[in-house]
Amino acid sequence: MLKVTNLESFYGAVQAVWNVSFDVSPGEVVSIIGTNGAGKTTILKSIVGLTAHTGSVRFKDQEIGHLPAHKMAELGIAYVPEGRKVFPQMTVLENLRMGSYNKRAAKFREESIAHILDTFPRLKERAGNMAGNLSGGEQQMLAIGRGLASKPSLLLLDEPSLGIAPILVDEIFETIQKMKKNITIVLVEQHVHHALSIADKGYVIEHGKVAISGTGKQLQENEHVKAAYLGL
Ligand code: ATP
Repeated sequence: MLKVTNLESFYGAVQAVWNVSFDVSPGEVVSIIGTNGAGKTTILKSIVGLTAHTGSVRFKDQEIGHLPAHKMAELGIAYVPEGRKVFPQMTVLENLRMGSYNKRAAKFREESIAHILDTFPRLKERAGNMAGNLSGGEQQMLAIGRGLASKPSLLLLDEPSLGIAPILVDEIFETIQKMKKNITIVLVEQHVHHALSIADKGYVIEHGKVAISGTGKQLQENEHVKAAYLGL
Protein backbone atom coordinates (compact mmCIF):
# COMPACT_ATOMS: atom_id res chain seq x y z
CA MET A 1 0.00 0.00 0.00
CA LEU A 2 2.81 2.40 1.00
CA LYS A 3 6.50 1.91 0.35
CA VAL A 4 9.03 4.48 1.50
CA THR A 5 12.59 3.91 0.32
CA ASN A 6 15.74 5.82 1.28
CA LEU A 7 13.81 8.86 2.46
CA GLU A 8 15.98 11.86 3.34
CA SER A 9 14.22 15.05 4.45
CA PHE A 10 15.40 18.61 4.75
CA TYR A 11 14.44 21.96 6.28
CA GLY A 12 16.46 24.28 4.08
CA ALA A 13 20.07 23.19 4.51
CA VAL A 14 19.30 21.19 7.66
CA GLN A 15 18.79 17.47 7.21
CA ALA A 16 16.26 15.91 9.64
CA VAL A 17 15.76 12.38 8.24
CA TRP A 18 18.40 9.94 6.90
CA ASN A 19 17.87 6.89 4.74
CA VAL A 20 14.50 5.85 6.18
CA SER A 21 12.78 2.90 4.51
CA PHE A 22 9.60 1.11 5.54
CA ASP A 23 6.54 -0.43 4.04
CA VAL A 24 2.94 -0.72 5.03
CA SER A 25 0.63 -3.47 3.77
CA PRO A 26 -3.13 -3.08 3.37
CA GLY A 27 -5.00 -3.32 6.67
CA GLU A 28 -1.91 -2.87 8.84
CA VAL A 29 -1.30 -0.44 11.66
CA VAL A 30 2.32 0.69 11.53
CA SER A 31 3.55 2.69 14.51
CA ILE A 32 6.48 5.08 14.31
CA ILE A 33 7.89 5.85 17.72
CA GLY A 34 10.80 7.89 19.05
CA THR A 35 11.61 10.82 21.32
CA ASN A 36 10.82 14.51 20.69
CA GLY A 37 12.63 15.80 17.67
CA ALA A 38 13.62 12.33 16.37
CA GLY A 39 12.07 13.03 12.97
CA LYS A 40 8.71 11.23 13.16
CA THR A 41 6.56 14.17 12.09
CA THR A 42 9.02 14.99 9.33
CA ILE A 43 8.58 11.47 7.91
CA LEU A 44 4.79 11.89 7.73
CA LYS A 45 5.10 15.39 6.28
CA SER A 46 7.47 14.10 3.62
CA ILE A 47 5.02 11.36 2.59
CA VAL A 48 2.29 13.94 1.98
CA GLY A 49 4.57 16.40 0.21
CA LEU A 50 4.86 19.02 2.97
CA THR A 51 8.62 18.71 3.51
CA ALA A 52 11.44 18.74 0.98
CA HIS A 53 12.84 15.25 0.53
CA THR A 54 14.64 12.78 -1.69
CA GLY A 55 14.07 9.06 -2.04
CA SER A 56 10.98 7.24 -3.14
CA VAL A 57 7.44 7.29 -1.75
CA ARG A 58 5.13 4.85 -3.51
CA PHE A 59 1.42 4.55 -2.77
CA LYS A 60 -0.44 1.66 -4.41
CA ASP A 61 2.45 1.30 -6.88
CA GLN A 62 2.41 4.94 -7.92
CA GLU A 63 5.33 7.25 -7.17
CA ILE A 64 3.85 10.15 -5.18
CA GLY A 65 7.01 11.71 -3.77
CA HIS A 66 6.82 14.60 -6.23
CA LEU A 67 3.11 15.37 -5.78
CA PRO A 68 1.87 18.42 -3.89
CA ALA A 69 -0.02 17.99 -0.60
CA HIS A 70 -3.43 18.89 -2.05
CA LYS A 71 -3.37 15.83 -4.32
CA MET A 72 -3.25 13.42 -1.39
CA ALA A 73 -6.98 13.42 -0.56
CA GLU A 74 -7.82 12.59 -4.20
CA LEU A 75 -5.45 9.63 -4.04
CA GLY A 76 -6.99 8.34 -0.82
CA ILE A 77 -4.43 9.50 1.74
CA ALA A 78 -5.56 11.46 4.79
CA TYR A 79 -3.04 13.24 7.01
CA VAL A 80 -4.17 14.29 10.49
CA PRO A 81 -1.44 16.59 11.79
CA GLU A 82 -0.47 16.90 15.42
CA GLY A 83 -2.25 19.59 17.42
CA ARG A 84 -5.86 18.88 16.36
CA LYS A 85 -6.31 21.68 13.90
CA VAL A 86 -10.09 21.83 13.68
CA PHE A 87 -12.02 24.89 12.54
CA PRO A 88 -13.06 26.32 15.94
CA GLN A 89 -15.82 28.60 14.62
CA MET A 90 -17.55 25.81 12.73
CA THR A 91 -19.77 23.09 14.15
CA VAL A 92 -18.69 19.48 14.44
CA LEU A 93 -20.85 18.60 11.44
CA GLU A 94 -19.47 21.46 9.34
CA ASN A 95 -15.91 20.37 10.18
CA LEU A 96 -16.71 16.84 9.02
CA ARG A 97 -18.25 18.17 5.80
CA MET A 98 -15.08 20.19 5.17
CA GLY A 99 -13.20 16.90 5.14
CA SER A 100 -15.24 15.45 2.29
CA TYR A 101 -14.74 17.95 -0.52
CA ASN A 102 -12.59 15.83 -2.78
CA LYS A 103 -14.48 14.33 -5.74
CA ARG A 104 -14.21 10.76 -4.55
CA ALA A 105 -15.53 11.50 -1.05
CA ALA A 106 -18.24 14.01 -1.98
CA LYS A 107 -20.46 11.32 -3.51
CA PHE A 108 -20.61 9.46 -0.19
CA ARG A 109 -20.62 12.52 2.08
CA GLU A 110 -23.75 11.96 4.17
CA GLU A 111 -23.20 8.22 4.41
CA SER A 112 -19.61 8.58 5.58
CA ILE A 113 -20.48 11.33 8.06
CA ALA A 114 -23.18 9.10 9.56
CA HIS A 115 -20.61 6.32 9.85
CA ILE A 116 -18.05 8.63 11.50
CA LEU A 117 -20.65 9.81 14.02
CA ASP A 118 -21.38 6.16 14.85
CA THR A 119 -17.66 5.54 15.29
CA PHE A 120 -17.31 8.52 17.65
CA PRO A 121 -20.52 8.71 19.72
CA ARG A 122 -19.16 11.78 21.55
CA LEU A 123 -19.12 13.66 18.25
CA LYS A 124 -22.67 12.56 17.51
CA GLU A 125 -23.84 14.04 20.83
CA ARG A 126 -22.07 17.29 19.98
CA ALA A 127 -22.76 17.43 16.23
CA GLY A 128 -24.23 20.95 16.40
CA ASN A 129 -21.65 22.37 18.84
CA MET A 130 -18.88 24.73 17.83
CA ALA A 131 -15.65 22.74 17.48
CA GLY A 132 -13.83 25.37 19.58
CA ASN A 133 -16.02 24.46 22.56
CA LEU A 134 -15.09 20.77 22.54
CA SER A 135 -12.54 19.31 24.96
CA GLY A 136 -9.04 18.56 23.66
CA GLY A 137 -9.82 14.87 23.31
CA GLU A 138 -13.06 15.55 21.46
CA GLN A 139 -11.27 17.93 19.10
CA GLN A 140 -8.76 15.16 18.40
CA MET A 141 -11.63 12.79 17.60
CA LEU A 142 -13.02 15.45 15.29
CA ALA A 143 -9.66 15.89 13.57
CA ILE A 144 -9.53 12.12 12.98
CA GLY A 145 -13.18 12.13 11.87
CA ARG A 146 -12.47 14.91 9.39
CA GLY A 147 -9.61 12.84 8.00
CA LEU A 148 -11.94 9.86 7.64
CA ALA A 149 -14.52 12.04 5.85
CA SER A 150 -12.13 12.19 2.88
CA LYS A 151 -12.69 8.40 2.50
CA PRO A 152 -9.01 7.50 2.68
CA SER A 153 -7.53 4.06 2.23
CA LEU A 154 -4.44 5.26 4.14
CA LEU A 155 -4.66 7.37 7.29
CA LEU A 156 -1.54 9.09 8.66
CA LEU A 157 -2.05 10.07 12.29
CA ASP A 158 0.41 12.32 14.09
CA GLU A 159 0.35 12.08 17.90
CA PRO A 160 -3.37 11.60 18.45
CA SER A 161 -2.84 11.32 22.22
CA LEU A 162 -0.88 14.55 22.69
CA GLY A 163 -2.21 16.64 25.60
CA ILE A 164 -5.35 14.56 26.06
CA ALA A 165 -6.94 13.26 29.27
CA PRO A 166 -5.98 9.58 29.84
CA ILE A 167 -9.54 8.29 29.60
CA LEU A 168 -9.95 9.81 26.15
CA VAL A 169 -6.55 8.48 25.09
CA ASP A 170 -7.85 4.96 25.82
CA GLU A 171 -11.02 5.72 23.87
CA ILE A 172 -9.07 7.04 20.88
CA PHE A 173 -6.80 3.99 20.77
CA GLU A 174 -9.78 1.64 21.03
CA THR A 175 -11.33 3.45 18.09
CA ILE A 176 -8.12 3.27 16.05
CA GLN A 177 -8.01 -0.45 16.70
CA LYS A 178 -11.59 -0.82 15.43
CA MET A 179 -10.89 1.35 12.38
CA LYS A 180 -8.04 -0.86 11.25
CA LYS A 181 -10.53 -3.38 9.86
CA ASN A 182 -11.31 -0.98 7.02
CA ILE A 183 -8.32 1.28 6.71
CA THR A 184 -4.53 1.18 6.74
CA ILE A 185 -2.93 3.37 9.40
CA VAL A 186 0.48 4.89 10.01
CA LEU A 187 0.61 6.18 13.56
CA VAL A 188 3.24 8.51 15.01
CA GLU A 189 3.04 8.34 18.77
CA GLN A 190 4.96 9.09 21.93
CA HIS A 191 2.55 6.98 23.93
CA VAL A 192 4.73 3.98 23.12
CA HIS A 193 2.91 1.35 25.11
CA HIS A 194 -0.41 2.08 23.38
CA ALA A 195 1.19 2.52 19.97
CA LEU A 196 2.95 -0.86 20.07
CA SER A 197 -0.03 -2.74 21.51
CA ILE A 198 -2.12 -1.99 18.43
CA ALA A 199 0.73 -2.12 15.88
CA ASP A 200 1.29 -4.90 13.38
CA LYS A 201 4.72 -3.40 12.78
CA GLY A 202 6.73 -0.67 14.42
CA TYR A 203 9.76 1.49 13.62
CA VAL A 204 11.85 3.22 16.27
CA ILE A 205 13.27 6.48 14.95
CA GLU A 206 16.37 7.91 16.63
CA HIS A 207 18.24 10.96 15.33
CA GLY A 208 16.36 10.84 12.03
CA LYS A 209 17.17 7.19 11.29
CA VAL A 210 15.42 3.85 11.75
CA ALA A 211 17.14 2.42 14.83
CA ILE A 212 15.02 -0.72 15.32
CA SER A 213 12.09 -2.30 13.50
CA GLY A 214 9.94 -5.33 14.10
CA THR A 215 6.42 -6.47 14.88
CA GLY A 216 4.61 -4.58 17.63
CA LYS A 217 5.19 -7.56 19.93
CA GLN A 218 8.90 -7.85 19.11
CA LEU A 219 9.40 -4.18 19.89
CA GLN A 220 7.49 -4.45 23.15
CA GLU A 221 9.90 -7.21 24.15
CA ASN A 222 13.05 -5.48 22.87
CA GLU A 223 15.41 -4.56 25.75
CA HIS A 224 16.35 -1.16 24.31
CA VAL A 225 12.71 -0.25 23.68
CA LYS A 226 11.75 -1.40 27.17
CA ALA A 227 14.49 0.65 28.82
CA ALA A 228 14.33 3.77 26.65
CA TYR A 229 10.61 4.05 25.85
CA LEU A 230 8.55 1.86 28.16
CA GLY A 231 10.25 2.77 31.45
CA LEU A 232 10.77 -0.92 32.30
P1 ATP B 1 7.93 15.84 17.91
O1 ATP B 1 7.23 14.71 18.54
O2 ATP B 1 8.51 16.79 18.90
O3 ATP B 1 7.16 16.50 16.80
P2 ATP B 1 9.40 14.45 15.91
O4 ATP B 1 10.08 13.14 16.12
O5 ATP B 1 8.12 14.43 15.19
O6 ATP B 1 9.23 15.17 17.27
P3 ATP B 1 10.26 16.34 13.96
O7 ATP B 1 9.22 17.34 14.31
O8 ATP B 1 10.10 15.55 12.74
O9 ATP B 1 10.45 15.35 15.18
O10 ATP B 1 11.66 17.09 13.94
C1 ATP B 1 12.87 16.47 13.49
C2 ATP B 1 13.99 17.50 13.46
O11 ATP B 1 13.71 18.49 12.48
C3 ATP B 1 14.17 18.24 14.78
O12 ATP B 1 15.54 18.40 15.00
C4 ATP B 1 13.51 19.56 14.56
O13 ATP B 1 14.12 20.55 15.31
C5 ATP B 1 13.71 19.79 13.06
N1 ATP B 1 12.60 20.56 12.49
C6 ATP B 1 11.30 20.26 12.53
N2 ATP B 1 10.55 21.19 11.89
C7 ATP B 1 11.43 22.12 11.44
C8 ATP B 1 11.30 23.33 10.69
N3 ATP B 1 10.11 23.76 10.28
N4 ATP B 1 12.43 24.01 10.41
C9 ATP B 1 13.64 23.56 10.81
N5 ATP B 1 13.84 22.44 11.50
C10 ATP B 1 12.75 21.72 11.82
